[in-house]
Amino acid sequence: MIRRPPTVVCYICGREYGTKSIAIHEPQCLKKWHNENNLLPKELRRPEPKKTEVRSIIAKGFYDLDALNEAAWTSAQSQLVPCNICGRTFLPNRLIVHQRSCKPRVAK
Ligand SMILES: [Zn+2]
Ligand SMILES: [Zn+2]
Repeated sequence: MIRRPPTVVCYICGREYGTKSIAIHEPQCLKKWHNENNLLPKELRRPEPKKTEVRSIIAKGFYDLDALNEAAWTSAQSQLVPCNICGRTFLPNRLIVHQRSCKPRVAK
């Protein structure tokens, strides 16, 4: 088994950070999220991502980092919006760029 330093998944962007740097990253990431969300057309705006409730995991009697990360990852994934042409999922600002070049598949 390979031991690696514990990392925490950011519930906003889904990237992994060290247990110390996540505390610095999260408020910045949320701020960035709000800036980007405000720039999006109304139909692509999303509700603010929900921070994973750590206490409910600790309440089980142990600090389950894997469960926490899985929940954070799911939260970050729910930020993705499916393309209504090809069905692939993108971050809303990426989707706008993508849809400029996405062509509907010709039905056979
Ligand atoms: Zn983040
Ligand atoms: Zn597409």
